[in-house]
Amino acid sequence: MKAVIFKELGVIEVQDVPEPEPAPDQIKVKIAYAGICGSDPIIVIGGLEEFPHQEGSIGWLQKPGPSRPGPKIMGHEASGTIVKIGKDVRSDFKVGQRVAMDLRNPCGKCYFCLNGMQNFCEHFSNHPGAMTEYGCYQTEALFPLPDDVSLETGAFLEPASIAVHAVDNAQMKIGDTVLITGGGSIGLLIMEIALRNGASKVMVSDPIAEKRKLAVQLGADAVVDPLKENLLEVSKKFTGGHGFNVSFETTGILALARQLILLAECNGTVVWVATYQGNRDVGVPITYTHTKEITIRNVAPSPYADYKALNMLAKLDLKPLTTVFPITDALKAFEAHKAGKDVKIMLKP
Ligand SMILES: [Zn+2]
Ligand SMILES: [Zn+2]
Repeated sequence: MKAVIFKELGVIEVQDVPEPEPAPDQIKVKIAYAGICGSDPIIVIGGLEEFPHQEGSIGWLQKPGPSRPGPKIMGHEASGTIVKIGKDVRSDFKVGQRVAMDLRNPCGKCYFCLNGMQNFCEHFSNHPGAMTEYGCYQTEALFPLPDDVSLETGAFLEPASIAVHAVDNAQMKIGDTVLITGGGSIGLLIMEIALRNGASKVMVSDPIAEKRKLAVQLGADAVVDPLKENLLEVSKKFTGGHGFNVSFETTGILALARQLILLAECNGTVVWVATYQGNRDVGVPITYTHTKEITIRNVAPSPYADYKALNMLAKLDLKPLTTVFPITDALKAFEAHKAGKDVKIMLKP
């Protein structure tokens, strides 16, 4: 069967690999769609392995775990249909059942897992990758897909869980004004969820015209091209001079992470959602955040949010976000992902 292999740092290939058989505690799934995540190209260049230690900090430091280079199969966002169930599996899953998948794998045994903080698991690993034709998984990676949710939409489970977690962390209130920098899949998922969470009006900033158009189509009240317009001036006008109650930074651009603090209303919350690679620092103007009581939140992976995200999938309009490539064109698909015009690229085996 074909699979997208992370061969070594910086190198992925489409290869023929043997079809796996499930271990007694595994379920075999015929993959329907596997999404390319914003983190996948970063994983390929090794960026996510850098968890820089801060001098003088206490405790937690996520260790580079078994997610080091392979060769291994890529992909942690997927959906599919169950084709075989191992003899020791105890669950309600049935052959023929459609499932959504979240392939991140907290250990379930460490201090953090046992304290309801699986997103900080000390021994985080990944279930086998999904950019292939068949994969075998433990039950905790699989979520039953409701009848009214397509397999294509089901593959949004993991990014939708990040968006749910981001909106949770923002502690949004009814009537809040919202700014989202970045109209990629996470930005637009956050927008759709924030609108259903009581946002009064939402503005999305993205330099790519296709993404701004999509944001408007899906409910944005205003969009900004940050390369041609002044984000500060547009934000002033949009919020009546008050700033935003809640803002989400999804681009990974450090200057924006800082700017959102300056665009916040009193009591506002800024959520840094993106992955900021390497050991970076953003200067926080502390007297300013103090005076305006601004809260800064971050978003790490969020395994607890999978069932909430699963429930939301039927409510979200995700079809317009999706571009599908055959798995044999995976390298082209990664190139297209880099070019940035498509919101969510999925590989179809
Ligand atoms: Zn992802
Ligand atoms: Zn753990």
